[in-house]
Amino acid sequence: MKVAIIGGGFFGFHIAREIVRKDRHATVHIYERNNEVLCEAAYKNQCRLHLGFHYPRSGYTIYQSVLGYDRYVHEYGECIEDIPNNLYAVHKDGFVTAEQYLAVMDSFSLDYEVVKDYAHYFRDPQDITVTVRVKEKCINPRKIVAKLKAENRAKVLYQTSVDRIDSTEGKLYRGTELLGQYDAIVNATYTNPNLGLSREKRFNVKWELCMLVVCQANLPKGTAITIMDGGFGSLYPAYEGLYTASSVQYTPFLSFHSVEQALEAYRGREELAKSLNPAAKVVEHVQSMMNVELTPVEPWVVFKAKLADGKGDTRITEVRSEGCLYSVFCGKLDAAFSASDRIVAEII
Ligand SMILES: Cc1cc2nc3c(=O)[nH]c(=O)nc-3n(C[C@H](O)[C@H](O)[C@H](O)COP(=O)(O)OP(=O)(O)OC[C@H]3O[C@@H](n4cnc5c(N)ncnc54)[C@H](O)[C@@H]3O)c2cc1C
Repeated sequence: MKVAIIGGGFFGFHIAREIVRKDRHATVHIYERNNEVLCEAAYKNQCRLHLGFHYPRSGYTIYQSVLGYDRYVHEYGECIEDIPNNLYAVHKDGFVTAEQYLAVMDSFSLDYEVVKDYAHYFRDPQDITVTVRVKEKCINPRKIVAKLKAENRAKVLYQTSVDRIDSTEGKLYRGTELLGQYDAIVNATYTNPNLGLSREKRFNVKWELCMLVVCQANLPKGTAITIMDGGFGSLYPAYEGLYTASSVQYTPFLSFHSVEQALEAYRGREELAKSLNPAAKVVEHVQSMMNVELTPVEPWVVFKAKLADGKGDTRITEVRSEGCLYSVFCGKLDAAFSASDRIVAEII
């Protein structure tokens, strides 16, 4: 069995790991366009190990996280950190009321505690209709990258951008150059899930260029604050006491509706981030909602792919197949198991 995985991110490495686990004789090649792996969304994300509290409007997103959470903890437990005081606060101007929010979480039997002692974290505490403390954890991005690299058994082909997939013949191309022929191909590029799919199979994708700001914050250790559900923001632990600051209004600072536009912006992403300076807006917005002092340490500029018709803020993971190609639309990190289960079951 010879398998090509396009994209050296979390999904690509995780799927490679699961394939080799099932068939230790499998030859797996990971194609990565950069000269480094696990440096895009796999590393630069909000570091939430989701349980569902962030998605009150998308039951299927919650469902996938509920299914994947324990497996993620089992598989990657040493990369996960507890957040003893992980707060989700529902804003009165959000898309859901406090009653609706709690009803959705109850419908998935999610465990939470309503808390009343944290009004001092909010600039306008009267706008917060309910605050719950939850048991979601944080994925330390440095640890997960180190673990995946150390345990990887696939061969990584760096600086090799795949431009074309022939799903009937199992062939990959860069320009006109044939890169290889495989029994199965997995598209785990995150930002280009339609590569190789025929028109009727394609995902309806939109792209956002995003800014997360890694910050120091004067919060007690083990605290996270997320204001829900609409144009608000969050402070979530990342690594070594630092937080990611994100703002629903300013974190996505450019959006695109074609892959060509997105790829062009990808090449100039650092310059775009410097000239538009969304980092300052993200920090200002978070500080306008929360009583915290933030000191920016590092801007994370990263592309996000979303379903363009994703009603209810859906962030699901879905696999579509054609010939020997399996194309993954990547959602939450703990939903990677739903993709790997299907791919492994079908190809081995
Ligand atoms: C701002 C932001 C915050 C997020 N926060 C969270 C969160 O807190 N919790 C959570 O669970 N999820 C979160 N997500 C979602 C999650 O991070 C992504 O769904 C997931 O990381 C995507 O899969 P990946 O890691 O494989 O992607 P990536 O890390 O982007 O990996 C894809 C790889 O494919 C490579 N590639 C692309 N095209 C080609 C090509 N043609 N040829 C070769 N290589 C190619 C890229 O260079 C890249 O290395 C967030 C996403 C973003 C953008």
